[in-house]
Amino acid sequence: WSPFVELTKELKLKPIKVNESTSSPSIQFHAGVDTHAEAAVVRQILKDVLEGKSGHIDPREVAIVLPREDALMPVLWEAISFFDVHFNVSMGYPLKRTPIAGLFELILRAQESRQGSLYYAKDYLHVVLHPYIKNIEIDGDSALMRIGIQKIDELVRSKQLQFIDLEELEVEPQLYKAVSGYAVSTHGRSKGQKLVDGFYQALKRIHRLAFRNFEKISTFRGLAENSLALVEFIVQNTSIENYPFASEFLGRFTSALHELRDALFADEQLAHPPLFAIFRHHIASKSVPFEGTPLSGVQILGILETRVLNFKTVILLDANEGVIPSITPHDPLMPRPVRRSLGLPDIQEQEEVFRYHFTRLIKGAKNAHVIYQQNDTSVRSRFVEALIWQAELEAGEIGKFDPQVKQFYVGLSQPNPTVVQKSKEVKDLLNSMWFSPSAIDTYMWCPLRFYYGYVLRLKEHDELKPEIQSDIIGQLVHEILEKFYRRIRRFGKINLSDFDRYAEILESEINRAFAKTFTRKTGEVILLHELARHRLRRFVYSDIENAGGEFEIIGLERWFSRELELNGRRFRLKGRVDRIDRRSVEFDYLGGNLIYIVDYKTGATVQKPRMSKLETALSDRKEMKKLIRSFQLPVYLMLYKGDRTALSWEQLNAELLIVRGKDEKYALFNSENRTHFMEDIFKPSLGNLLSEILDPDVPFEPDDEDKNYCRSCPYRILCGISV
Ligand code: SF4
Repeated sequence: WSPFVELTKELKLKPIKVNESTSSPSIQFHAGVDTHAEAAVVRQILKDVLEGKSGHIDPREVAIVLPREDALMPVLWEAISFFDVHFNVSMGYPLKRTPIAGLFELILRAQESRQGSLYYAKDYLHVVLHPYIKNIEIDGDSALMRIGIQKIDELVRSKQLQFIDLEELEVEPQLYKAVSGYAVSTHGRSKGQKLVDGFYQALKRIHRLAFRNFEKISTFRGLAENSLALVEFIVQNTSIENYPFASEFLGRFTSALHELRDALFADEQLAHPPLFAIFRHHIASKSVPFEGTPLSGVQILGILETRVLNFKTVILLDANEGVIPSITPHDPLMPRPVRRSLGLPDIQEQEEVFRYHFTRLIKGAKNAHVIYQQNDTSVRSRFVEALIWQAELEAGEIGKFDPQVKQFYVGLSQPNPTVVQKSKEVKDLLNSMWFSPSAIDTYMWCPLRFYYGYVLRLKEHDELKPEIQSDIIGQLVHEILEKFYRRIRRFGKINLSDFDRYAEILESEINRAFAKTFTRKTGEVILLHELARHRLRRFVYSDIENAGGEFEIIGLERWFSRELELNGRRFRLKGRVDRIDRRSVEFDYLGGNLIYIVDYKTGATVQKPRMSKLETALSDRKEMKKLIRSFQLPVYLMLYKGDRTALSWEQLNAELLIVRGKDEKYALFNSENRTHFMEDIFKPSLGNLLSEILDPDVPFEPDDEDKNYCRSCPYRILCGISV
């Protein structure tokens, strides 16, 4: 080996040739797509080793070698923690990867996206949802803080807040209601009130220590002292000591803060960008040392820590170019000729040093496992290539040692989604349930989705997206139309000849609703506002025109709940209708005095019964799904009519008004025979469907016939169906 030859010459030594080892190590190569896949490989190897598949091995003779410190936590959690074995870590872990440094990174980001005193909602939530913040204890219990933070999260999502005013949040009534409701119901009035006071004190301290204190800092001393105050608050008010390696991480982080606070430049005035950049760099340059106790357990080391040590089993990770060898090809401060002229080692020699450690480690073992990452950005190390080439030469076959690339799967999909049987509790709940049209439709389309949504009441956790969500737009449109029609009905019958007067009222309602919903006028809000003015004006015009130019509103936003008899059995139905009109519609076959139940639709998909295909009552759910498609309008009519015999089906109709680019309407009935449809088809079919829901022997089964329906299902991960 040329470096040794040169070294012996330089030192004037006479090398003695010893007999070459007769037993070469058994080397196995493994590839994984990323660090987690590599950790999964380590777990499998450790399992075989510790189970003694290749003879008894003392765990102290097993070394896991990590050339990159970043791989330490994945290896600890995804491999070592699976075995009841001691381990000894003799390497550093990057400070910037620790949870405490992660929290401060989030705090800096919240400052960077802040606008005046307003915090970007997503960045604010990231800080308060950090485990060290959301688990702040009040009177020794962290449940209240978690409930409060969860409520803040809900408020931000439901109101689609883009920015948060800390002061407003501290007096938000809904937050108070949620926190006091929980505290009083679990601890009684007097203790509950004390806890609520404690919650608000803690929330204000979080706002001060994690947000406001960072707004005006301009020196490293200020940054370090504010950070230390927050760390102290966390240590005193959480069970942080229960987090793994918390004392090592906190100790290293606070000492890095002390270094900044005591630095010669600690009082230099700087703006946030350079201040934060240097802070980040400082943290990134530190690592957390672990005290090694090499007398017991599996050894976890960095590659340089393996010098002069031999292990029977070596598991080496990250055998990739750029990691092994880890050398900088171009040194801008000291180019290669300069290094050579000064007699400093150049990259050639650095590479040889790495090669020596690598080769000695692998060849000194009895069993060596070399793991590398194989993906679009990583290639295996040149040293691994050399080993594989050598092995291929000996075997006389190219490609023989290329391993299969392992992937780390998170098994969320299930080939056979669960069928849920009805337990006694579920049966009791169903028997006491009031069925809304959307619950009925959900069951008709997929019983399992009904189970998740209406029995378990699982709610979708919306992503906080920068764009305005369609459900917010839907709520806004409903609110504007309700307020608008409530105002204009005071003038008596709605008439097209009064449209200009209505248009002014509509405009004022749109402006009011937008001002209330969107506290900040972003470009998107302005655009949406313009669109709403244009579309709703057109919608109202065609609404009156379609109703024959004149109608009377007899109900707005009305809730109904009735027990109705269907197929000789009573069921509880409920629903809210947007509007009830009395119309004298010429094109309706009766020629006037009809009651219309109106529902506004803003969504993209609208399901309507296929009236021309409906001939008899249906009992098969899937048939109903094909032909009835939605029970919404028939159920509205049933709720309105109730058991009143004086009111005839022939006097009733129901209509969907679609508020979209192209205004459409859909009336349930366009001809006679309403009594036949309602009495002979919709009522018995609905009775059959509700009986099935209540039938203790019919389980909730998944129905994935319509892939589009599954794609929009919030429970598809739970269900596991692949779409
Ligand atoms: S993904 Fe499809 S099958 Fe599964 S619960 Fe949702 S709608 Fe039903």
